[in-house]
Amino acid sequence: DEFSEDITELMARRLPSKILGVLYLIGQKADKEGFKVYGVGGFIRDLLLGKDNLDIDLVIEQDAISFAKLVSKHLNGDLKTFSQFQTARLTLRSGTRIDFATARIEYYAFPAASPEVEESTIKQDLYRRDFTINTLAVELNCNSFGKLLDFFGGTKDLKKGVIRVLYNLSFVEDPTRIFRAIRFESRFNFNIEEQTLIFIKNSLETGVLDKLPGERLYEELRNIVDEDEAVNTFRRMDELGIFTKIFPNLNVSQDKLVKLQNIYDILNWYERENKQKQEKFVSKEAMVFSCLLQDQPLPIISSILERLKVPQKIRDVIITTVKETESLSSKLEYTEKNSELVQNLEEIPLETILFVLADKENQKIKNKIYYYLEELIGAGVSITGEDLKTLGIKPGPVYKTALEEVRKARLDGLVTTPEEELEYVLDFFEQKGEDMHG
Ligand code: ATP
Repeated sequence: DEFSEDITELMARRLPSKILGVLYLIGQKADKEGFKVYGVGGFIRDLLLGKDNLDIDLVIEQDAISFAKLVSKHLNGDLKTFSQFQTARLTLRSGTRIDFATARIEYYAFPAASPEVEESTIKQDLYRRDFTINTLAVELNCNSFGKLLDFFGGTKDLKKGVIRVLYNLSFVEDPTRIFRAIRFESRFNFNIEEQTLIFIKNSLETGVLDKLPGERLYEELRNIVDEDEAVNTFRRMDELGIFTKIFPNLNVSQDKLVKLQNIYDILNWYERENKQKQEKFVSKEAMVFSCLLQDQPLPIISSILERLKVPQKIRDVIITTVKETESLSSKLEYTEKNSELVQNLEEIPLETILFVLADKENQKIKNKIYYYLEELIGAGVSITGEDLKTLGIKPGPVYKTALEEVRKARLDGLVTTPEEELEYVLDFFEQKGEDMHG
């Protein structure tokens, strides 16, 4: 039931000309050097869906590393090879990544291999993939450039909007596919095909997720966090009982889903606001995990983060966020002066501050945080230690205190110009009665 179609025209229309040029070059090299090369996977799926995906995945029916080396001679970029996997990655200056993989037959027994090596190798490689929509391949060799190969009904499923596995034991063989299925379902607004859904439910029943190493679970959760439709994916995970399978007692209430959506909205707002400024990195996953785990006892949270092997830095932010959200927001309720606001927020991770915005409904508190983020964060003073020296003040730890006092005054609007700052500093030292001309 193989289906093939010429999609050269579609490729010419949808792909940026640079990428198309790269693909032609790859085809020419393959012809010249006797390789057989295909574009595969998400790259082809997204091409047919009309979505941008500039990571090019190639399968080569011979040694991918040798081929990648040949290609890299003609393209400016950085080549990395991974001999144990027989793969290579070429990163072009533009940021485009080209992954080269040797066609593989993998770990799962399947009906007798076809005798025709040429054709069957790519077919076998595609058969070990997760869903039909990811099994599409396009020939890149010159005389067949643009020929779409569809061995497993991927085109039909793409049109129907269906996520379908290729064989019954797919989820048993690789339980991470459960996460991939719901991720693609939300991302493309597709449906998991009926039988595939039964396979998911059955495999969950038999406890396939119990055997999944924490690191892999963490990777899948992070992949979900990065999706635009993450909240829908989490909702679906909960519907299928996946959360309680991986973290007993963890429930994802409607209330939590609303807060999760708030987190995404706030992160989008923050990113928009700070596009120009080189603001510091905000860990989306730290905020999402904080939300998911917030209602759990601290020892449970720690054990979950330990099991997932979450990096220490992110762990710290999550723990701080869960611990501090309440106290921080009640502190903010009674904070009136700008200088106090800064003092209360300055040492708190940005994730925790943004988390309070998502977690709390009190508009007064939120306004204070917005005001801090928009107007006060990073505010300094005009005068420097040099100015203090010029005034004849003896250098020492007192400089720091003095400048901090000026900063507070400035935040609270007591001084506005550099001249006023200097005056304020002089007053400060006079009041302190320090020997400033020592
Ligand atoms: P994305 O847009 O999220 O990158 P993608 O489909 O390109 O989607 P990758 O994770 O980059 O996803 O995987 C590349 C290809 O490798 C997929 O298209 C799929 O065919 C295959 N693949 C990835 N993970 C699995 C898996 N767990 N089991 C089987 N095939 C997989």
